[in-house]
Amino acid sequence: MEFSSLEPFILKRKALQSTLALWSFDSDTRAPKKAIENSAKIMGVLSEEYFNLINNKEVIELLDQVETTTDVQKALVKEWKTELNMLCKIPKDEYVEYQSYVVMSQRIWNEAKNKNDYEMFKPYLKKIVETQKKFASYRKVGEESLYDILLNDYEEGFNTEILDEFFNKLKEVIVPMIHKIKNSNVKIDTSFDHLSYDIETQKQVNNELAKYIGFDFDCGIISETEHPYTTHFHNKDVRFTNHFYENYLSSALFSTVHEGGHAIYEMGVSDELTLTPLGEGKSMGMHESQSRFYENMIGRSKGLWNNFYPTLQNAFKEQLGNVSVDDFYLGINHSKPSLIRIESDELTYSLHILIRYELEKQMINGTVDYDKLPEMWDNLYEKYLGVKASNLAEGILQDVHWSGGMLGYFPSYALGSAIAAQIFAHYQKTIDIEHLVEQGQFDVIKQQLKNDIHQYGKMYSTNTLLKNMMGEEFNPNYYITYLVDKYSKIYQL
Ligand code: ZN
Repeated sequence: MEFSSLEPFILKRKALQSTLALWSFDSDTRAPKKAIENSAKIMGVLSEEYFNLINNKEVIELLDQVETTTDVQKALVKEWKTELNMLCKIPKDEYVEYQSYVVMSQRIWNEAKNKNDYEMFKPYLKKIVETQKKFASYRKVGEESLYDILLNDYEEGFNTEILDEFFNKLKEVIVPMIHKIKNSNVKIDTSFDHLSYDIETQKQVNNELAKYIGFDFDCGIISETEHPYTTHFHNKDVRFTNHFYENYLSSALFSTVHEGGHAIYEMGVSDELTLTPLGEGKSMGMHESQSRFYENMIGRSKGLWNNFYPTLQNAFKEQLGNVSVDDFYLGINHSKPSLIRIESDELTYSLHILIRYELEKQMINGTVDYDKLPEMWDNLYEKYLGVKASNLAEGILQDVHWSGGMLGYFPSYALGSAIAAQIFAHYQKTIDIEHLVEQGQFDVIKQQLKNDIHQYGKMYSTNTLLKNMMGEEFNPNYYITYLVDKYSKIYQL
């Protein structure tokens, strides 16, 4: 059977997916408050249509029968089958019941967080974990652990064996380093970051920054939400959101470069793939590697700010007039252990993830005592970061992920940072990336990332992409070396 017989379904799938994404972006940014109830019904119908298309008998037969002659066609059939396998191994009634349970669980989590009441959320967390375990067991084929099945959903080919090694290395080097920094004589002043900055001016500067690093305003827009994120409908319509704080200048700046990195990835997917199931970033970890690359390796570099700081300083003469670019650079790179993951610095970030990884692993393996979970969380923070939460919103209840059933997701954040450092090390050798940043040649950097990663969308796994690029699969040592070098210099260790 000709491959072309699958094409109408491919386009319909994309149409449903994009429509859902567009509707959800609109709900987050523009839609009036009272729209939610009716809009949710409409989105429910579209989601069901999507499910029925993936699980369509005619399509399933076609997937087995069509002739695949190119790599793209082969990868496309494989991708569709993977999604089919994920959705259809779970009995439909159990899946539907779980979906509404998750909505409830997230609502209860939010309330529990506000009321500082773990007991309220505990039964929901337990049931979410049990359900995720049950769903994973439906998909189990070999000897892999249930947690490995969940990890694989977010990062293909990565399991506890690889992650244990990664996090152990990280712990060995970074935990002592944090102690050394605490005792270092270098004191960095960050007070400039918390002066009063006019929001409208911040928006203008952030737009310029997005443009400067390569965000294409002909193929994308920027909007506002409580928590910044990126979405896309295809490679010519990619959108990200930001959040502006009057007394926290760097927050929006680094959201711009972070989400800008996600957006540039989606804009770089090839035209051939963009309207197919392969037409988006490969995985959570790979996506996060691109955002972290722009946020940390480029966004927190001296080279970028030597060029861009005058623009920022000019916009905020009163606040930044007496702050030199060197002091600004130190300010945006200072490291201080803190309690909240999303506010943490580049050096300590992955330890926040390590703590979640250790707890998640025990939850899925069934060895955790749910009564003791908040205490375990606090003890790990004290052990690795030397800080202790004074309430649950700073502790076990701070993240939305577990309440939404996202177990196995957290590690991909840390993997992303590590992959970013690996790519950066490769580009230092091959294209002298630091020189390109100093010269402001972001189009060259963007093109290189497109050639190596972006154009392929979901065609290849993370390890295949890395191997094709630099002859080596994932290797956490680059990340550790990068962090040690950078922070030894900053804190003169
Ligand atoms: Zn991100």
